[in-house]
Amino acid sequence: MSIEDYKITEHKYDVVVVGAGGAGLRATFGMAQKGLKTACITKVFPTRSHTVAAQGGISAALGNMGKDDWRWHMYDTVKGSDWLGDQDAIEYMCREAIPAIVELEHYGVPFSRTEEGKIYQRPFGGMTTNYGEGTAQRTCAAADRTGHAILHTLYQQSLKHDAEFFIEYFALDLIMDDDGVCRGVLALKMDDGTLHLFRSHMAVMATGGYGRSYFSCTSAHTCTGDGNAMALRAGLPLQDMEFVQFHPTGIYGSGCLITEGVRGEGGYLTNSKGERFMERYAPNAKDLASRDVVSRSMTIEINEGRGVGPDGDHINLHLEHLGPEVIEERLPGIAESAKIFAGVDVSKEPIPVLPTVHYNMGGIPTNYKGEVVTLDGDNPDKVVEGLMAIGEAACVSVHGANRLGSNSLLDLVVFGRSAAIRAAEVVKPGTDHPDLAKTACDKALTRLDKFRNANGSKRTSEVRLDMQRTMQKHAAVFRTGESMQEGVEKLREVQESFKDVSISDRSLIWNTDLIETLELDNLLSQAAVTIEGALNREESRGGHAREDFPDRDDDKWHKHSIMWFDDQNKVSIKFRPVHMYTLSDDVDVVPPKKRVY
Ligand SMILES: Cc1cc2nc3c(=O)[nH]c(=O)nc-3n(C[C@H](O)[C@H](O)[C@H](O)COP(=O)(O)OP(=O)(O)OC[C@H]3O[C@@H](n4cnc5c(N)ncnc54)[C@H](O)[C@@H]3O)c2cc1C
Repeated sequence: MSIEDYKITEHKYDVVVVGAGGAGLRATFGMAQKGLKTACITKVFPTRSHTVAAQGGISAALGNMGKDDWRWHMYDTVKGSDWLGDQDAIEYMCREAIPAIVELEHYGVPFSRTEEGKIYQRPFGGMTTNYGEGTAQRTCAAADRTGHAILHTLYQQSLKHDAEFFIEYFALDLIMDDDGVCRGVLALKMDDGTLHLFRSHMAVMATGGYGRSYFSCTSAHTCTGDGNAMALRAGLPLQDMEFVQFHPTGIYGSGCLITEGVRGEGGYLTNSKGERFMERYAPNAKDLASRDVVSRSMTIEINEGRGVGPDGDHINLHLEHLGPEVIEERLPGIAESAKIFAGVDVSKEPIPVLPTVHYNMGGIPTNYKGEVVTLDGDNPDKVVEGLMAIGEAACVSVHGANRLGSNSLLDLVVFGRSAAIRAAEVVKPGTDHPDLAKTACDKALTRLDKFRNANGSKRTSEVRLDMQRTMQKHAAVFRTGESMQEGVEKLREVQESFKDVSISDRSLIWNTDLIETLELDNLLSQAAVTIEGALNREESRGGHAREDFPDRDDDKWHKHSIMWFDDQNKVSIKFRPVHMYTLSDDVDVVPPKKRVY
């Protein structure tokens, strides 16, 4: 069969959103609400998107549980980002957080309540009052199932508005024209193997993170960063991919997340001597220092021989002292997860935990309106026409080198909404679609056809495991040039071995073998830019901690990395400046200083 034999059904929309997590759904109904003919394509049923697993909460300086100010939230986010975040975007997010939460409440999110009936807010890592002085209670929660509550509410809103859903369609590639404008998305309908071209004036990547490039991560098996990889194949760069967040408290063994909300409610970590070691590393914030700081401290304790368990290779998280009421009311899901995945009764014994890959700060570079940007000659902010990215797939960048807990759910709704506002400005409903070249889908079809007929000697699962082990070992919490160089070489071998992959199912009906292989191909390009970006950045900043370059180096490295990945599996790296300006005069730029908690 040659690629001419594939039949493609064409659909025409004003906007096409790929992804139905929190970001995708907020954009989908926002765009439909504004009168744009909107399609949402998703590989899993919307309410199964990874957003459903978010536990701890969503930040906003509502001040329901003590004085708060969005400027303090902005300060914390800039500091949390280790000054790599763009301050215009951070200002936008922290200011818009307040109306965004009120809006979510009005849409029907069942937030936990205070005695007076206000939205309950808990402390979270790195969230302070008065520019770093006190502890803020800023994270709005629906018990420990906040993502579940938000995702279901957003899906209901999407159904209420006139958006069309294409569920269990797997987006394969962006369709770009010769001028570099995005003209649509090619997708595979998974239940019958038919191909669908979604023409759009604006395609929105809301495809989430790529945690599954690592062996141990908290994210779902579907988190393979497909949108990021589609951008790379379209010749676009990804930004700041070297910054991978390790969450301090994944359950030892399974990697299943235990929310930072546990420490927000008073939980704490101990080593084999029973010491609350965070007091030594972060005298003020202690267990609520930001995630990169806590993960590094735990790793040092383990490396210096103070880990717990028979192999001394993990840490204890205590919530026995919180009492059954707090656990039942605020952390019921955690009690359940600890029972199932660690066999632990949290009211009697500590949970065994270990830093686990959790979030990707890097992604498709965008401005605060959701438009994808790239470097073009002297212009670092050239807008790529017809393309947006939001949510974990995007790098706006509000999280810079390290994301603060509860700022991601916020990022989803704030930038999902801003993308809808911007799309309504640039797209006129019902505009005709220009003709596409006959060969527009050829590259995407050739790739699909290649994997469908792959006939080598390696199984997809073997190659995937090799990649995951390489990333886990060589792009870890602590990094050295030597180890990363070794990782880069190992990953090249893994890529080489992938050429010899084999698929056993030749049909196109529910071919999970094929889908997993396409996902692995997507993961491999992201793994490459992640580890090569990390090797290239010779400093330590946020989630990127190098033993051979232990200090932040603002003179050389106060800039975003942007990375391309070509057909020959070659990575190239350039840079964009960090936005050190604000959108309004209501707040000042936060100047770089040493980051201590
Ligand atoms: C266990 C866990 C707990 C968390 N807790 C919190 C928290 O308490 N607070 C917080 O702020 N953040 C939290 N985070 C982070 C946050 O939840 C995620 O960053 C966020 O939910 C990502 O949302 P998203 O909309 O970008 O993508 P996702 O929710 O991951 O959705 C991705 C969507 O893209 C679709 N998709 C992907 N590829 C394709 C393709 N090829 N074709 C078609 N569709 C595709 C999927 O079907 C899905 O609908 C948590 C993360 C995890 C893993």
